[in-house]
Amino acid sequence: MYKITLVPGDGIGPEITAVTRECINNLGLPITWDLQDAGELAIKKYGTPIPEALFDSIRKNKVCLKGPITTPIGKGYRSINVSLRKSLNLYVCLRPFKSYPGVRSKYQNIDLVVVRENTEDLYSGIEFEKGRKDTLELINFVKKIKGVKIPVDSGISIKPISTAASERIVRFAFEYCKKNRRKKVTAVHKANIMKFSDGIFLEAARKISQSYPEIEYEERIVDNMCMQLIQKPEKYDLLVMPNLYGDIISDLCAGLVGGLGMAAGSNIGEDIAIFEPTHGSAPKYRGKNKVNPSAMILAAVLMLEYLGEVEVSRKLEKALAEVIKEGKFVTYDLKEEGDPSVVGTEEMGEAIIEKFKTT
Ligand code: NAD
Repeated sequence: MYKITLVPGDGIGPEITAVTRECINNLGLPITWDLQDAGELAIKKYGTPIPEALFDSIRKNKVCLKGPITTPIGKGYRSINVSLRKSLNLYVCLRPFKSYPGVRSKYQNIDLVVVRENTEDLYSGIEFEKGRKDTLELINFVKKIKGVKIPVDSGISIKPISTAASERIVRFAFEYCKKNRRKKVTAVHKANIMKFSDGIFLEAARKISQSYPEIEYEERIVDNMCMQLIQKPEKYDLLVMPNLYGDIISDLCAGLVGGLGMAAGSNIGEDIAIFEPTHGSAPKYRGKNKVNPSAMILAAVLMLEYLGEVEVSRKLEKALAEVIKEGKFVTYDLKEEGDPSVVGTEEMGEAIIEKFKTT
């Protein structure tokens, strides 16, 4: 029996979560759901977007399927997702990007995996606000020890990158390659400019790669990587990189496979993992039974795989892929603009369930 923390989240989250849960419930696995609030609902109920009850539930159940959560802007809240990843030490962000025939995209046959370091880099939250006393002190300190004048009207974000965290993420990337019979790891960096932060990452990647002689290893500078992915994505397999580049390259790869509606990801630690769609809470579509549930369903596919339920996960992925390929019961984003035959989130979910019941 699996007990899984389920977070419907904000905006379109509850709709895509309900459909995904229904799909999983029809797969015949012994799963019970531990429903938890986060985001706007949690702020109303508990005065915080991530209540302790959510952390307790995830720590106890170890596996969480999570809908998108709205980050309140300018109200002093840090991103809930960043906080969850950091507090639970979910150091890996793993995002596969695959083309599904039937999805409108300029590219076909994409099959890439992005492994993003999740705990440090510019996401460490070490921020110095313009004009504050500590910021001015830091500016003076830098002038004193480095002789560099930072304009006093600057804000500053600190980018720490450690050897331990870099080696850990690169090792994960190679192990994932080995387990999933992938052939090549590309380390992405900007060590030519940031010698003492990205340089550490690159050094770690080179060192760890030597323990995996059977897997090809290469390096790309991040700006070149962006161009290469647009020009010849078929040349790449698994890409591993620090946090910020991972964020940007992931969206680029989502673009290659037809947008954020088709991309899911997992945040993985030593013994805890959270699975989620890559897109946000799309508040304008909330309650409209309109959006594509695929990314949330693909998050469930990743979760089932992580749980070792590989056959069931393939079954769910195949049913989703067939519904998309047939193009009959799909949401607005998977049809030509203005096509009157689009269906809603729920109807697409029903078609997926029907598909794996009949095949
Ligand atoms: P978004 O991804 O929510 O929406 C952008 C646009 O993408 C939508 O207006 C819609 O046109 C389209 N879209 C998104 N998901 C779709 C789906 N499933 N089917 C069809 N179309 C879809 O991005 P945003 O508007 O920048 O962010 C809204 C909120 O979500 C913000 O508060 C942001 O912080 C939050 N967010 C949360 C997460 C997360 O919880 N993991 C991730 C990204 C953004």
